[in-house]
Amino acid sequence: MAANEPQGPARRRRKSASPADRPADPSKRKTLKKLAALGALAVVDAGALASCGRRPTSGAHARDRLILLGIDGLDPGITARMMAEGKLQNMLRLKAMGGFRTLASTIPPQSPVAWATFITGQDPGRHGIYDFVHRHPDTYELVSGMARTAPPKYTLPCGQWRLPLSSSQVDLVRQGRAFWEILEEHGVPCEVHRAPSNFPPRDTGARQLAGLGTPDIRGSLGEHSYFAESPQGDGGETQGERVRVVEGRVRARLKGPRNSLQTGTPDTAVDFDVWVDRRHLLGKLSIQGQEIVLRQGEWSGWVPIRFTMVPHVKSVGGICRFYMKEVAPSFKLYVTPVHFDPMDPPLPIDAPPGFARELAERHGRFHTAGLPEDTGALMRGVLDDGEYLHQAGLVLDETRRIFHTRLQEFQRGLLFSYFGTTDRNQHVFWRTMDPLHPYYDEGLARDYGGVVEECYRMADELVGEALAVCDSRTDLIVLSDHGFAPFYRKFNLNGWLADRGYLAMRNPQDGANITREADWGRSAAYGIGLNGLYLNLKGRERDGVVTPEERGSVARRLAADLKALRDPDTGEPVVANVYLSEEAYSTVNPDMTPDLIVGYARGYRCSALSAVGVVTYPPVEDNANKWSGDHCIDRQAVPGILLATKPIRAESPALADVTASVLAAFGVQVPGEMQGKPMW
Ligand SMILES: [Zn+2]
Repeated sequence: MAANEPQGPARRRRKSASPADRPADPSKRKTLKKLAALGALAVVDAGALASCGRRPTSGAHARDRLILLGIDGLDPGITARMMAEGKLQNMLRLKAMGGFRTLASTIPPQSPVAWATFITGQDPGRHGIYDFVHRHPDTYELVSGMARTAPPKYTLPCGQWRLPLSSSQVDLVRQGRAFWEILEEHGVPCEVHRAPSNFPPRDTGARQLAGLGTPDIRGSLGEHSYFAESPQGDGGETQGERVRVVEGRVRARLKGPRNSLQTGTPDTAVDFDVWVDRRHLLGKLSIQGQEIVLRQGEWSGWVPIRFTMVPHVKSVGGICRFYMKEVAPSFKLYVTPVHFDPMDPPLPIDAPPGFARELAERHGRFHTAGLPEDTGALMRGVLDDGEYLHQAGLVLDETRRIFHTRLQEFQRGLLFSYFGTTDRNQHVFWRTMDPLHPYYDEGLARDYGGVVEECYRMADELVGEALAVCDSRTDLIVLSDHGFAPFYRKFNLNGWLADRGYLAMRNPQDGANITREADWGRSAAYGIGLNGLYLNLKGRERDGVVTPEERGSVARRLAADLKALRDPDTGEPVVANVYLSEEAYSTVNPDMTPDLIVGYARGYRCSALSAVGVVTYPPVEDNANKWSGDHCIDRQAVPGILLATKPIRAESPALADVTASVLAAFGVQVPGEMQGKPMW
């Protein structure tokens, strides 16, 4: 039975300018704000992003097509082994053409940080992305490391509504010019698909679809829904919402964005029904006039949903997929996070506006949230291993389909496509191939032990597709932002800081949150993010105690204590390196840059709870978790890979060198703010 994807009502078509049509006056470069607050989505005036100009072509280019294939998390060790086993034939061809190198990642080697360095050719001190999460020094509250949001400044109360008089806005945290902005200024047309740390994309000429860092419609990185008669995950805890089947019908409510146009910012929601046919193992969903019949075990296509913000005045469009996990004996329905609808995105996920719609009109609707593989549902046991892989495969197929078409139609300039499924699948399937992992078992290995290798085979196929269109005018660069390592043991950094007296808690209980329960008057340091470590600095943090004069000595003592730390169970060092930000980066933002960046030893990583400011004990414990591989450790332990058609001269290139090489490939001089050197 075919899953249907009903079309929404016809909406205003926004046409994006082709490269030749764009205005040439750089003074027109302005960004019209049409945005909303992350986590409190107020979709206000649908403004448009204005195009910017570019200078005419300067000079002849040696070659005029460059394909950049960014594949997240490909590890040089695994790649080299599989090449040696003859499993990656396309990469072997590429190696023979231009060479194969390890590619030095950033400090820390996290995707948002590393890709931002690749995009700008600058280190994190300059581009301003240090971690998935940052903190606000005035409040110690977590803030997104990738996009900054501000609610509207002025609102007009009107009954239960709060009508915005000024736009709320979301801005890119990433500072510095993207290499495609510079290329466009030199007349090189660029198309950039799903680059991380590029939400919202700046409308600077290049055709862009945002990637990692783009939220779902609720402002999170991915919040699925689950409706079940017994909504337990595999750990036994309740997940999602309990529903009842009454006379063959389930009534449920799908949550949409919080409505910041309404007093108290309540959740918007859409009611829907499912008619359950247990005899034939079918469910018929009825939502906003759309009817979708799904067999047990079947996924729907993307279903457009509109959430009402102000009746008859304002609504927001999203899309989601439904998965009829079980009809009998017990009803279970999973719904993906609601993504922005690419046909009519309420926030700018594209540039110029309308590019996402153009793609959706050609290829059908597609995922737009930045972390579309629902690892959260797998971790909570809402999806099992096979179901998760199917969902991640749907995501990958969409990206591949668009990549394939763009390759065939690629005329001139730069085409950059990013793939993230390789990273996500290695994170959650490492446990199936590594007998040393606490979660490993032989049954798992038998059923899923090949998933990680499959990531590399798929990457090799992508390389093959790109090589197929390479000719004498075309170069290809394949890179990953970091490699991969096992995640055997987790380190509760905030628990350790509390044990050592660096962090004092008013509530010493396991699970206390530093934002609310730290005794800041007696605390010298705290951890936020997977690698960030901050001093509680006087004059910067709201209740700072470490004076600027003491800062250096406290930071060095902390670094020495961390490096001396041994795992009490194994005697192994937990931390390989601790970097002082002023030594690791060419410049720092005194308010935002972490004072220290912790580089964990292979096998260790900061616990997820500590990364969001929770104090847990013991300081080091087993990671018996599906999230079993990782790379947020010491940069030297997890370099990425680099392959190219053009001979790579550099022996030990770093991410910023690839950026410089991209400019050099088009004969464009590398600007002074970029820190890399061309590798050819
Ligand atoms: Zn990752």
